[in-house]
Amino acid sequence: MNPDLLLFEKSSPGRRTLRLGALDVPQPDLTRLPAGALRLAPPALPEIGELDLVRHYTRLSKKNMSIVDSFYPLGSCTMKYNPVLHEEAAALPGFTDIHPWQDAGRLQGALAILRDLERDFAEISGLPCVSLHPAAGAQGELASLLVARAYFAERGEGERTTVLIPDSAHGTNPASAAVAGMRAVTVVSAADGGVDLDDLKTKVGADTAVFMITNPSTLGLFEERIAEIADIIHDAGGLIYMDGANLNAIMGITRPGDFGADMMHINVHKTFATPHGGGGPGAGPICVTEALGPYLPLPRIVEDENRLRLSEEAPDSIGMLRGWAGNFSVLLRAWCYLRRLGPEGIRRVSENAVLNANYLRARLRERWHVPFDRLCMHEFVANTRFQREAGVHAIDVAKRLIDLGHHPPTIYFPLVVPEALMMEPTETETRETLDSFVEDMLRIADECDQTPELVKQAPTTTPVSRLDEGRAVKQPVLRFRAE
Ligand SMILES: *Cc1c(COP(=O)(O)O)cnc(C)c1O
Repeated sequence: MNPDLLLFEKSSPGRRTLRLGALDVPQPDLTRLPAGALRLAPPALPEIGELDLVRHYTRLSKKNMSIVDSFYPLGSCTMKYNPVLHEEAAALPGFTDIHPWQDAGRLQGALAILRDLERDFAEISGLPCVSLHPAAGAQGELASLLVARAYFAERGEGERTTVLIPDSAHGTNPASAAVAGMRAVTVVSAADGGVDLDDLKTKVGADTAVFMITNPSTLGLFEERIAEIADIIHDAGGLIYMDGANLNAIMGITRPGDFGADMMHINVHKTFATPHGGGGPGAGPICVTEALGPYLPLPRIVEDENRLRLSEEAPDSIGMLRGWAGNFSVLLRAWCYLRRLGPEGIRRVSENAVLNANYLRARLRERWHVPFDRLCMHEFVANTRFQREAGVHAIDVAKRLIDLGHHPPTIYFPLVVPEALMMEPTETETRETLDSFVEDMLRIADECDQTPELVKQAPTTTPVSRLDEGRAVKQPVLRFRAE
């Protein structure tokens, strides 16, 4: 580091000033700390040269599997490749050097991007009022349920606290209902994988607040009875919430607002160009009808006299769930992605995602059991039923795929399919990549017949083989030095 930029100066005994360029930043006076709080010896940090450090992390990074190493068909998660151009745009200093608390007069460009994005999401969802505030899909679910509660409270219908959720739903749906202080009630699936309308009708009542539906569902199936479901819920005075994690199958083709949804979230990091994995970062904007708009979170982006600003003047709002108007750098990438693709490109993304999934399904269905074997959307679920006699489980197939150089698909989810292998190729993969995955899945099917032990012992090419995954989560050993 340039010594002119950063140096400690002793201006008076015990008093230090950190000089940052032209700024003098006062530092705490250490003589005022209680003696017992002062270190007697330097901290035991690793002593290591730069070269060894670089080698260490490079070695570790090579043990990772990511989308730039291999095919990553992790269903529900939408692990698609995102163009590097958006990363470059998000790294421009005009974006990275702004601060959330800066005066709005100097944030006009950033606010204009967010306002554009609100309009794009309104158009894509068919729901006119948008908040970019929530941090991820799960927080979008929570925000929307709080919006619904506020809406019902205002109408004097506070007794509506039940959230109906299909049994194929993602675990965040019932969790969000619980966090919002509501009651989750499960609706079972029919034989075709859609919502069982008879079961739904028995569970709808005067206490129904919201029906949360993922469409297409986590089985990769479009709910063909969605209009009828929306009528049943609306006739009972409830609202339809659409979990938008699978928007990448339908965007540009149909709009949730047009098939009955009153509110939805968008997983920006799944559908729109932010690399995700390892738990973040994300953004979970929500889109709602005009009637629900007043309850959206704060702050709002408002325009007066051609100036944009953030406003907290919305008396019916549910308030803030996190800082600022949203996760700016993630939303910025989504804006770039949308500008780059345009309306036609958005539709092509969905069409190619659906085509790729159906190609995989059609090529794998002879050797892998596909429980709901009909035209799928952007993902589909297979399982190991054909391999039952060999005693091979979904986890064994997943581990064997690692040996063959692919990231495993999502396994054991959705819960309604035993031994589930949930595959989502995404629109960014080539025919050649899909073919190589198919060849290896067919090879594993042969191995299950001929040498099942090989599959059950996989992986054999990794630094460690099978871990006690439960214990690794509950008792992680995170230290730099062997004891
Ligand atoms: C990913 C996902 C969620 C949760 O979204 P996050 O952005 O990870 O919080 C909810 N529902 C479905 C169907 C999902 O796939």
